[in-house]
Amino acid sequence: MTPDELTAFAVAHGMRPFRGQQLAEWIYRHGVEDLDAMTNIARVDREELARIAMVSRLAVRREEASADGTRKFLFALDDGRTVETVLIPDEGRRTLCISTQVGCAMGCTFCLTARQGLERDLTAGEIVDQLLQVQRITGERVTNVVFMGMGEPLHNYQGTVRAVRIFTDARAFDLSTRRVTVSTAGLLPQIEAALEEPDLKFALAVSLNATTDALRDQIMPLNRRYPIQALLAMVKRFNRARRDMAFIEYVLLAGVNDSDEDAQRLARLLKPVRCKVNLIPYNAAEGADYRRPDDARVDAFRQILLNAGYTVLTRRQRGADIRAACGQLRQAERLPRRLTERQEPVA
Ligand code: SAH
Repeated sequence: MTPDELTAFAVAHGMRPFRGQQLAEWIYRHGVEDLDAMTNIARVDREELARIAMVSRLAVRREEASADGTRKFLFALDDGRTVETVLIPDEGRRTLCISTQVGCAMGCTFCLTARQGLERDLTAGEIVDQLLQVQRITGERVTNVVFMGMGEPLHNYQGTVRAVRIFTDARAFDLSTRRVTVSTAGLLPQIEAALEEPDLKFALAVSLNATTDALRDQIMPLNRRYPIQALLAMVKRFNRARRDMAFIEYVLLAGVNDSDEDAQRLARLLKPVRCKVNLIPYNAAEGADYRRPDDARVDAFRQILLNAGYTVLTRRQRGADIRAACGQLRQAERLPRRLTERQEPVA
């Protein structure tokens, strides 16, 4: 629940409105899960709360730590399904990459999560709890949140919007809206809806990954519904509505979308929008159909964009020794079962 929802909840159960604020502080600020430990809440109210409510908690199924400091968590939900969360410490920042769905329905051909199909949306509670549990386990505050884990955040619109509100609300986690990034494969109606929500702000990242509709249709089936020009027009709307740049993510797939011509086309395509470019050399998983370009190719691609005046961030590979790329840990856990099961079709 958002702080506003907690207040309404308290009032609906005969409590004073400020109980909602107290609950938000205990749960989100202090990470307290035990209602009885919320000592500034009157005993009668604590007893009533214990009767009607609970603070849920994800269970840690598996944890792996990389030599480079990256830590990856596989969390079990109440129904036994699992999702991944990755903590990436870097120069004073602690960025958490969180999941919004079990599996994904977008069907991007290079993505391991897509192969798992969509099982279900996470609740806002399950999304927010990834951060709470990581803070509890590590004893350190998360400074940045990226919705770049399993799932398409805007396909789970309600869960994502509520989680963003909880992360950014001054009465809850109070993260700067520039430090909460929602990454999308390009669900345009949902981007538009989010721009029109009152009191909702976040940084936007868009996964472009191709410079022609012919290729994007192939590797990101969503492009058949929302092609490149429509997507870029929406980025422009974001630029205007938020007076802010967007991030354009571009996964580099060797021999597929990493040529000099691709880089030049990308530079031309992005001219009308205000953005930074985030190059992500492909993270190869076992049995992958694609390859990661070598460093020289990545540099050449990057240099063309730099020469055209773009700010380019090239993502370093982190956590390679712990299967930190999207979907890998969950896939590893599921393999024995999968061998005897038919793969569900991807929507
Ligand atoms: N569904 C959202 C968020 C999750 S994917 C989206 O599409 O943006 C987060 C990013 O990881 C996307 O840019 C996606 O293109 C990229 N990605 C997926 N699989 C990858 C892989 N194997 N290697 C590198 N990047 C990958």
